[in-house]
Amino acid sequence: MATTSDRASRSEELRHYRMLVDGEWVEASSGETFESVDPYTGRTWATIPEASDSDVDAAVKAAQRALDGPWGRLSGVERARLIRRLAEEIDAHAEQLAVTETTDNGKVIREMLGQLKNLPEWYYYFAGAADKIQGETIPSSIPNYFIYTLREPVGVIGAITPWNSPLLVTSYKLAPALAAGCTFVLKPAEQTSASALEFGKLFEAAGFPPGVFNVVTGHGPTTGGALAKNPGVQKVVFTGSSATGRQVMKDASDHLAQVTLELGGKSPNIVFADADLEAAANGAIAGIFAAAGQTCVAGSRLLVQAEVYDELIDRVVAKARAIQLGDPLLQETEMGPIAFREQWEKIKDYIAIGENEGATLAYGGRVPDRSDLQEGFFLEPTVFTDVDNQMRVAREEIFGPVLTVIPFENEEKALEIANDSVYGLAAGVWTSNLQRGHRMAQALQAGTVWLNSYRNIGFNVPFGGYKESGIGRENGLEAIHEFTQVKSVWVELSGATRDPFRLG
Ligand code: NAP
Repeated sequence: MATTSDRASRSEELRHYRMLVDGEWVEASSGETFESVDPYTGRTWATIPEASDSDVDAAVKAAQRALDGPWGRLSGVERARLIRRLAEEIDAHAEQLAVTETTDNGKVIREMLGQLKNLPEWYYYFAGAADKIQGETIPSSIPNYFIYTLREPVGVIGAITPWNSPLLVTSYKLAPALAAGCTFVLKPAEQTSASALEFGKLFEAAGFPPGVFNVVTGHGPTTGGALAKNPGVQKVVFTGSSATGRQVMKDASDHLAQVTLELGGKSPNIVFADADLEAAANGAIAGIFAAAGQTCVAGSRLLVQAEVYDELIDRVVAKARAIQLGDPLLQETEMGPIAFREQWEKIKDYIAIGENEGATLAYGGRVPDRSDLQEGFFLEPTVFTDVDNQMRVAREEIFGPVLTVIPFENEEKALEIANDSVYGLAAGVWTSNLQRGHRMAQALQAGTVWLNSYRNIGFNVPFGGYKESGIGRENGLEAIHEFTQVKSVWVELSGATRDPFRLG
């Protein structure tokens, strides 16, 4: 098994992966492949099959067969047993999977290890729900009827995921889908397909029937588009940008498939003058520089009350300056490279846009001047101050380590600025005033609000977006509803159904 100390030997070796369809490891039918690049070295480290429409269709049909066959016949108790075994397999392979994800997306190993070691909890939690999915009896409004509901699996799920937290975001969907009795076809991000394919091996080891979990790899508009459009997919669950989410929803609507969309954000992190400023500064940098800002919930707009504006900026800049950039596979590294070249170029363009719009570059903004970082896609943690909420850097999701700091006068104004966004994924509030904290939590237009904290996410807590940040909820028992549908059953009890065309 790869470990966190053997980067040198790993990075030299070019690996080839195959896709998982119906329990078999297969090449793309066209034989085509694409490359996965390590953003720290800039070198290709793996090749991945490029699935065509027919490969996607084969995976969807396999998922349907599993649903109609052995998987569909299992009880909730039996599904739960398999899901628990999968959790044990994930636990045993957490380090290997974390190294693969860091090699693919450059996120620091300490974060990826944390995510992967915690990942089994998603499966244990939803395994616990698998045998508690039940309907209800409904008192009849007319005589001689017994009415009940069944809660049944939605069917074949098509999942499309991004590169920033590949297996965590997959598990938000997969763990409740399995608990509900659905089957799954995953199209991971082209930059981070390897960990999904390694993950697929754990299904066989855990004893799942073939076809319950399938992975097809390839590019978004082609392979992802084919999955969203496939009429055999009953629900498309997507995490990614709002622009792609719109397209996925249009494609799914061709065959009226349901959708869950987890999309982008421009989340406000709001600091009142009465807050513990040291804690707030820690929350600000955790919100934007963890994962080099490449998280959907990034606290990319820091709203600061005027009285403490200068003091908080000094603290945030001092902390940004102290962040250790470096090889993401080393434990001591605090911020790694940007995940891939196009994203790196996009962030640099946004830094130029911010300067042109008149924001003050208080810290960072450049490619670091260090010889050991020149091969990778590195950027300094960047802090823009004197930002107006109408500037593009305050309105558009940058998805990088770029903080925009916006001053405000009072609570009313803070709320107005915070809610003045097309997004509504998350928000943070820092205050020592209990009433104010709860007032803000109720008035903020966001799916998650943290009071005196930032960036917590749990398997048992619903997560999703308001406004253009999404549709539907993941995590928590809410997620079971996303993967089940309700059937109502009417039972006539008298045995004397009358001819409806004869009166009296
Ligand atoms: P993205 O470009 O929208 O891609 C996401 C996924 O969609 C990838 O697998 C991509 O494939 C695929 N895709 C692209 N075009 C497609 C199409 N026309 N049809 C079907 N699939 C298509 O997003 P990203 O850049 O990977 O991820 C960053 C975005 O995700 C940010 O906006 C971030 O906020 C959001 N995000 C949201 C959450 C949340 O829970 N709300 C969590 C994490 C990330 P390729 O890889 O081949 O392009």
